[in-house]
Amino acid sequence: MFYVKTKINDETTIRTEITYENVFTVCPKCNKEHHTDLVGIIANGGDLHTTTEYCTECSAEIQNNAKNNALTVGAVKTFKSKH
Ligand SMILES: [Zn+2]
Repeated sequence: MFYVKTKINDETTIRTEITYENVFTVCPKCNKEHHTDLVGIIANGGDLHTTTEYCTECSAEIQNNAKNNALTVGAVKTFKSKH
């Protein structure tokens, strides 16, 4: 079991188990909160400090724009680095 541990004050600490259903992030384009797959991000070379993930709608829009832009070469990644 993996979990997130948050200290609220000297007497209270919350421990939340990390599951496939309870991990979320915020889209860097529209700020919408959405579910994410940490295992998939790590498997694709991402990390917890520099990787963000677009929501489904923004990912589709970006991929659509890439298809319509003749100057774009290569695949559009779902992940965006904060560098
Ligand atoms: Zn979005």
